[in-house]
Amino acid sequence: MQTSTALVLFSGGQDSATCLAWALERFARVETIGFDYRQRHRAELDARHRFRAGLTQHFPAWAEKLGQDHVLDLAVLSEVSETALTRDVEIATTASGLPNTFVPGRNIVFLTFAAAVAYRRGLKHIVTGVCETDFSGYPDCRDDTVKALQVALNLGMESRFVLDTPLMWIDKAETWALAERLGGMTLVDLIRERTLTCYNGDTATMHEWGTGCGTCPACKLRADGFAKWRGAR
Ligand code: ZN
Repeated sequence: MQTSTALVLFSGGQDSATCLAWALERFARVETIGFDYRQRHRAELDARHRFRAGLTQHFPAWAEKLGQDHVLDLAVLSEVSETALTRDVEIATTASGLPNTFVPGRNIVFLTFAAAVAYRRGLKHIVTGVCETDFSGYPDCRDDTVKALQVALNLGMESRFVLDTPLMWIDKAETWALAERLGGMTLVDLIRERTLTCYNGDTATMHEWGTGCGTCPACKLRADGFAKWRGAR
């Protein structure tokens, strides 16, 4: 296992796109992994390809480090979502602000599969854009969960992975600031134009802060963070 290698969990959203740039600045070889779990917004998976292509085009030094992209089929996750188990429930946003298609412990599943791929590929760091600051209601995105999982994965795979969470303690405004520090306005514009965070998968409506419906909790968080970052510059 080479130490300066990483696998980035890259969904095609703002946070994981920023993490991908963060990893490309630090490590000599970076691969990406995404999960197809029949998400409602398959547009996020399309966004992954557009964003990777943009990075390659605009950042030649990063293009040299950017390696293989892995997409794993985790369709089984849709079988344990609330809408699948209780078919009379409509897809809706719950009081917690999460769509009720949410699968408990999903992030644990993602990190475990990422570790299996990292093991096979000989990659040391596993980078994920989870965050406690804009608390989203996902307990498996908390720092303690990730730290515990790092221990469990290293014991269970007899390995020495490092689970990196560069966004854990920063808010959405600071995530935009991090993107600007890493890749200037070129990277900020790539994230605005080519990533998708919207729960409704709206790729048709362009705002100053990017594409999205503008009304779902994910869009609101992204828009507020962008406004706060712009105001502070
Ligand atoms: Zn939205």
